[in-house]
Amino acid sequence: DNLGLIVVDEEHDPSYKESVMPRYHAREAAVQLAKILSATLVLGSATPALESMYKARKGEYRLLSLSTRVPGRKLPQVSLIDLKQEKKERGGSDLLSSTLLTEMSDCLGRGEQGILFLNRRGFANFLICSRCGHVPKCRNCDISLTFHKKDRLLVCHHCYWKEGAPDLCPACRNISLILMGAGTQRVEETLQKGFPHNRVIRMDADTTRSKLAHFRLLEEFRQERGAILLGTQMITKGLHFPNVTLVGVVSADTALNLPDFRAAERTFQLLTQVSGRSGRGEKEGKVIVQSYNPTNYAVQLAVAQDYDSFYEEEVGKREDLGYPPFSQIINLIFLSKDRQVAEEGSTTLKKMLGGSRLAGEGLEILGPAPCPLPRVKNFYRWHIIIKMKGDGQEKNFIREVLSSFYRRKKEELRLVVDVDPVWIM
Ligand SMILES: [Zn+2]
Ligand SMILES: [Zn+2]
Repeated sequence: DNLGLIVVDEEHDPSYKESVMPRYHAREAAVQLAKILSATLVLGSATPALESMYKARKGEYRLLSLSTRVPGRKLPQVSLIDLKQEKKERGGSDLLSSTLLTEMSDCLGRGEQGILFLNRRGFANFLICSRCGHVPKCRNCDISLTFHKKDRLLVCHHCYWKEGAPDLCPACRNISLILMGAGTQRVEETLQKGFPHNRVIRMDADTTRSKLAHFRLLEEFRQERGAILLGTQMITKGLHFPNVTLVGVVSADTALNLPDFRAAERTFQLLTQVSGRSGRGEKEGKVIVQSYNPTNYAVQLAVAQDYDSFYEEEVGKREDLGYPPFSQIINLIFLSKDRQVAEEGSTTLKKMLGGSRLAGEGLEILGPAPCPLPRVKNFYRWHIIIKMKGDGQEKNFIREVLSSFYRRKKEELRLVVDVDPVWIM
């Protein structure tokens, strides 16, 4: 009871949320703890979570702004590469633009180092128009539709809207839709081919199974002149390499089109963070961001380092669609080794929830649908997303429904209740 101050740095970071039971959010736990102990709580971030900034704007939190950067460090120079333009001019479909390759070659030639960032292994495929940048989205949820090759369907993994995959781009009527998301492993080959005398160090879930591997790879990169580090999310955090003067984001689109209502926010955070990796020493840094949608607000405003405008734009969208902070989300995940058991469980619970007078008033129920990751470690995964707008009675109602569901559910069905999920996967 002697605790006077709690500091949560990088408060927007989704890894504060526990991914196994009990699924608490460390930031929200800190908020409660500070309340109980009447302690002061400081939430710090260059890209605050939308929910936190919303509370600050409402006066629930007090907003303190730092308007200057660490002395002596300049903002890196950021360029956006329009892949539509690249494709038109060069015709190719390579993942690396000629601008990025030229800059990389210059950087390595000076004995400096480069980092290339790929989004976490693209598990969700989506279609994107290589002529106009259009991505087919769900008309109910505004999230990107996932492409299912087997039956050529576009599927919404929030509400299970399905439609046939079009041959022509619905926006510009050209035969120009290409498949994105997978195939990023090709980047390593392309790099190695383009720079045969330089070492390419790949860092992802596969090459860093043990904790030591993680440190060893980073240490190797630190010591090697003219090396390229190619990696996923794990290379964006807090690393300090004074010799890195070029950072490339291979595709802003894979982040923008994650099947998750927070995709734009995650993209903004990611691009801001990635940009911070370049030019951390005395040399000036460059950042190159490739995208088919370079005019997207999350991309544009991240490049301009304009958090306030991003917040305004994004909070308006969330309000229109009733996503947090204008509702609370509960993700109910049904797991079973038997696909039918998982699906039936979700259908049954949906019926139990839907029969209430609250449905349509304080409760909106999306799905059931297969999760964006439909099968993990032999378990089939279905889910229902609940948007909750009221306060007390909706929660009590859901609690009652869940406990009666638990009493009658099949033994081989597992139900995960994720309140305030940070990823919907
Ligand atoms: Zn939908
Ligand atoms: Zn198009």
